[in-house]
Amino acid sequence: MITTPKIIKQQSSLISSAEMRPFWAFLVIAALVLIISAFTQPLSWTWLILAVFLILGIIIFFISFNLGKINREIKLEKNQLNAIVSNLDVGVVAYNPDLVVLVCNRAAENILGLNAKDVLAKQFSLALTKEPKFKIMAQIMFPSLALTAVRRSGTGIYPEIMDISLEEPRAELRVSTEKILGLSGELLGFVKLIKDRTREIEILRSKSEFISTASHQLRTPLTSLYWIFESLEKEALAETQKTLVKEGLAASSRALKIVNDLLDASKIEEGRFGYRFENADVVEFLEAVIKEKNVLAEEYGIKLYFQKPSEKSIVCFIDKEKLSYALSNLIDNAIKYNVKNGEVIIGIEKEKNESYISIFVKDTGIGIPAEEINKLFTKFFRAENAEKIASDGTGLGLFITRNIIRRHGGDIWAESEINRGSTFRFTLPTDPTLVPPREVVYEEE
Ligand code: ADP
Repeated sequence: MITTPKIIKQQSSLISSAEMRPFWAFLVIAALVLIISAFTQPLSWTWLILAVFLILGIIIFFISFNLGKINREIKLEKNQLNAIVSNLDVGVVAYNPDLVVLVCNRAAENILGLNAKDVLAKQFSLALTKEPKFKIMAQIMFPSLALTAVRRSGTGIYPEIMDISLEEPRAELRVSTEKILGLSGELLGFVKLIKDRTREIEILRSKSEFISTASHQLRTPLTSLYWIFESLEKEALAETQKTLVKEGLAASSRALKIVNDLLDASKIEEGRFGYRFENADVVEFLEAVIKEKNVLAEEYGIKLYFQKPSEKSIVCFIDKEKLSYALSNLIDNAIKYNVKNGEVIIGIEKEKNESYISIFVKDTGIGIPAEEINKLFTKFFRAENAEKIASDGTGLGLFITRNIIRRHGGDIWAESEINRGSTFRFTLPTDPTLVPPREVVYEEE
């Protein structure tokens, strides 16, 4: 009932639309031809022409009417899309392959601190990046100009996701870039979705700061406890007291490890783990770390092997202390989650991409359940089979390890078969320019 007048109104406006003009023109011409024919031709001819015009008229009417209807629907959809895009709380900027800006919505105006009129239909060339009012836009179009730009997607993979940190004004943005393709797959342009994550990151930082402070406060009394048990251990004690002191020493050492891991994880999340890079021989470095791990391996009855590369030395730009944590954690796990008389092999290999090497830690242990392997590097993850044989893990080691490797410009992954063993492999660049210039605020994936 309510919609009928609307439909009639729409149909009548359709009849007067531009698409109906050919039909009206045809009608006028047909009427003229018929009048002339009526005066000049025999009546049978006039009837024939009238019949032909009637058929033609019906065809032209339906074609024009449907064309009008389709065009109207397209316009309506376009208007709806425009309304949605302009009211999105995510910034939208679209441009063609020549960097001519085609769309800039309200949220983008707020984030970029400019008026859409200033950029629309303008080619965003490098020259424009020097203008102060385009400072933020420039860093989004050319992320290398930003304070930090971290790629969250694989290179050349669309949508391309980048986390961009800006200074003055300080802002944390996530920019997702997608291609706009034509019907036959030709590139028409790109669309950037810009999400302002400044507040989100601030909350994450303050949460980390809280954990950081709490861990700091706990560390001092825990260290004192550890020292007390350590000095008591050296005293001449009765057998029962000795057992108690040993348990106290183990418990305080475990508590200290948890607190230290928590502190490291929160420092990583705040982007202030503090790295000190230097050129170092990775072969020599690996040998030293493995040597330290022999005591633990013996304790667990595990054989530890180092598969040396053919090269005598491989120099990489590394933070020895941090990388030693990462490697120790992988070897500790390979020993802890192994089986009796198991083996651990550590080796270095050249990657296909000449600028990288990879280091692997392979064990013959309990393995990782296939459905849980994608959670390995998340905070506090512990697989059920591991919890059964070692109740004292924190589930933070691999989270810290992956961050250390990524800070070095590498990546880490694992392959495993349950009850057959696991191989953890990480890459390191041999080219120092591939090491990211600075630490970034971490975000859980
Ligand atoms: P933690 O060892 O303190 O639990 P990690 O972050 O180092 O913490 O490891 C997380 C979990 O990953 C472990 O609890 C275990 O379930 C699994 N894991 C890691 N390394 C191995 C391995 N070599 N073999 C089997 N499981 C492993």
